[in-house]
Amino acid sequence: MSTWQDLLRQRSITSIEALAERFGPEHFPVEHRDRLRQAIDNFEFRISPPMVDLIESPNDPIWRQYIPTLEELDVVDGIVDSLSEDRDSPVPNITHRYPDRALFLVSPVCASYCRFCTRRRKVGDPEKIPLSQFESAFQYLEAHTEIRDVIMSGGDPLMLSDRRLEAILTRLRAIPHLEIIRIGSRVPCHLPERITPELCDMLRRFHPLFINTHFNHPSELTPAAVHGLGMLADAGIPMGCQTVLLKGVNDTPEVMVRLMQRLLMARVRPYYIYMADQVAGGEHFRTTVETGLTIMKALRGWTSGLANPHFVIDAPGGGGKVPLLPEYVESVSENEVVLRNFKGDRYVYRQPDRPTTRRPAVSDPEYLLQPL
Ligand code: SF4
Repeated sequence: MSTWQDLLRQRSITSIEALAERFGPEHFPVEHRDRLRQAIDNFEFRISPPMVDLIESPNDPIWRQYIPTLEELDVVDGIVDSLSEDRDSPVPNITHRYPDRALFLVSPVCASYCRFCTRRRKVGDPEKIPLSQFESAFQYLEAHTEIRDVIMSGGDPLMLSDRRLEAILTRLRAIPHLEIIRIGSRVPCHLPERITPELCDMLRRFHPLFINTHFNHPSELTPAAVHGLGMLADAGIPMGCQTVLLKGVNDTPEVMVRLMQRLLMARVRPYYIYMADQVAGGEHFRTTVETGLTIMKALRGWTSGLANPHFVIDAPGGGGKVPLLPEYVESVSENEVVLRNFKGDRYVYRQPDRPTTRRPAVSDPEYLLQPL
């Protein structure tokens, strides 16, 4: 019986020549190929079989996410480590920025490599996310009792074998102050065949365990992906989705509303929409903040509240996630708040009387007891 590893090994596309053979050489002119290879040298290239099968035409939303382009070499104001994760890394594989949670990079590989990846400086390179250096990471997590939430990331943690994943989870669960374990994974989208009954049986032993997955377009929710997500949900794993706002992929209200609705139908709660980071090599994916706010306006009030994620910018330089909201509050005074609802209609909410400003009437016996 072939396994998910066989599928990935045998049917993924990993070279410009294979791309030209599959989609036509006219899309990869010979005179561009050296520069495209340079883009691949800068950041690993692989498209997993389910993603290859999803591409309907050149430059469609799936193509744009995975096919290397010459634009990757045009660095204007992109930053290599745009979120300054390495600055907040006390030991290899750990980023500790927020007070009670830490990021733990456990895998250098992904089933497909997204060309917009924020961590493209490291992902795909086992020397930069070394599997042999976990001990100092475990010791850091054990020593820092303020950390109650660890986010396993990479690369993609679900690309590890069940045995290796189980060993990491067992060690993490033995740390008494770690209340929550999260796994960030795009495997439910990139390679749903990886979601096996054995994996689910193993994961369910480590609750409370959450999975943050990553879908960017409604067409990625294929029957196989929905089935894999259902297996994880049946294992009692709450799932959220982190979506990146990408030019030419999902930067319209219609696409994004449909994506959020379809995620809910697959039992995944939309969690974040991120502005694309200012990462060197991925700048051509960026669009404006106004585009994101327009999308949020199309969600709020117009579809289930459950389908409304937070819209955030992960602030360059390590500032953390900053939420952005369309303007619904017109003014705030001591007496009232003037609001606009999702249709743009105006409403007034009266502020409650504030005890500190209450003054008894002259006829009130309390009046004489007031301090002068
Ligand atoms: S799956 Fe995540 S870590 Fe891997 S390339 Fe895509 S965005 Fe980067």
